[in-house]
Amino acid sequence: KNHLSDRINSMSTSATLAMAAKARELKSEGKDIIGLSLGEPDFNIPDFIKEAAKQAIDQNYSSYSPVDGYADLKQSIANKFKRDNGLTYGLNQIVVSTGAKQSLANIAMVMLNDGDEVILPAPYWVSYSDIVKLAEGVPVEVPTSIDTDFKMTPEQLEKAITPKTKMIWFSSPCNPSGSVYNQEELEGLATVLRKHPNIFIVSDEIYEHINFIGGHVSIANIDGMYDRTITVNGVSKAFAMTGWRIGYIGGPEWIAKACNKFQGQITSGANAIAQRATIAALDAPISSIKFMIDEFHKRRDLVLELLGEIKGFNLNVPEGAFYVFPDISSFFGKTLNGTLINNASDFALYLLEKANVATVTGEAFGNANCIRISYAASEKELREAIARIKAVV
Ligand code: PLP
Repeated sequence: KNHLSDRINSMSTSATLAMAAKARELKSEGKDIIGLSLGEPDFNIPDFIKEAAKQAIDQNYSSYSPVDGYADLKQSIANKFKRDNGLTYGLNQIVVSTGAKQSLANIAMVMLNDGDEVILPAPYWVSYSDIVKLAEGVPVEVPTSIDTDFKMTPEQLEKAITPKTKMIWFSSPCNPSGSVYNQEELEGLATVLRKHPNIFIVSDEIYEHINFIGGHVSIANIDGMYDRTITVNGVSKAFAMTGWRIGYIGGPEWIAKACNKFQGQITSGANAIAQRATIAALDAPISSIKFMIDEFHKRRDLVLELLGEIKGFNLNVPEGAFYVFPDISSFFGKTLNGTLINNASDFALYLLEKANVATVTGEAFGNANCIRISYAASEKELREAIARIKAVV
């Protein structure tokens, strides 16, 4: 028995980070690995954001910030919510954190008691279930499939609700499936939720701008949902600022207050320089990041076309984010070049070892039939990676 807590012993390692580490290891051994496992834009941060950070250093933003973020940053966030989502949040409803990941962890820690159930439409973002478990909540996975574009139907939601249901967590655009819930689909879920006024919603909208259909809908905007939705967002994806670690929430004041209290004992305010830079990012017109979205759109089409030529890859058409999530279950039970493929993990490992392409098993996202391929990579890398995949399957 080791001396670590049951808490950490029962936690799984982030599968996406583990795959990235494994790919790095193979790379350092001299293998020519193409990494398509991480959820990280491959663009440089726009210059005006870098300038704002440099200025912040020169202006000596080097002290602790308010725990919930600088007031002027929270004002920029409030403006952003209004401009992009039609949502009105006062400054006391907003909390800035060290990445949306911390925003999510804060919410779990302040909302969940032992045994509270959290509905996770699967596939879901890799960390949701472990964050929920860390807070002693119980993840309740609702499996979806490619047949419904990996979206949960109102009937499925209704069936998953029990007297212990406390929350539902989902992302739209979704990591890993790229699916986007439209107005009608969210209305459908809201109709069920209106019958259950004690259920709270975490709406993770971090891929909001990486949307190829042009219509992002926030569930907080749907009748009756505002008072029980926590809208999560951040600058990692839209502004290629993953390492700057800024995320934020808008939600009911009492929840924001609790997150502020919790964060005050754990991390204090997020990085001061990154917060100042985030003001510049959020104040800029969306047109300043359009080049990234256009590029992701092009790559999505390319990847769908190339993967579509591989027999056994069954694909939905992702409407946002920068992942494809092919169903590769047709390979299960087959032997490829002497390797028996029993499940998605075997398949991802096979691609890593035989094609030198790093992807992530769908099992990490609660769907054992798929793998996730990130297309946040250059066109050249994507073409080469998919050609290699094609050659080994
Ligand atoms: N939510 C989703 C759906 C994500 O994909 C990610 C990052 O991969 C995050 C949250 C966390 O983002 P951050 O870098 O702000 O912690």
